Amino acid sequence: MRLVVDLNRCQGYAQCAFLAPDVFAMHGDEGLLYDPQAEDAHRERLAQAVAACPVQAILVDELDMAAAAAGAGGGETSDG
Ligand code: SF4
Repeated sequence: MRLVVDLNRCQGYAQCAFLAPDVFAMHGDEGLLYDPQAEDAHRERLAQAVAACPVQAILVDELDMAAAAAGAGGGETSDG
């Protein structure tokens, strides 16, 4: 699923890297690194990281998550 971290919000608390180390990693001075196309296998950990982020900086494509949960291969497109 796709995710984005608002790095202007992110305060480097590293809660996400602690909860979902396969998706997020702290990288010294460069701050947070993350995988913008996280594998579905990490969905639960990712959800925990989203919930744990003190500043709600992690944005996950909810539609993608819903589609993954339903096991559907959706084909809808939208502008934006
Ligand atoms: S938990 Fe939130 S604030 Fe902390 S490093 Fe992750 S995205 Fe940034």
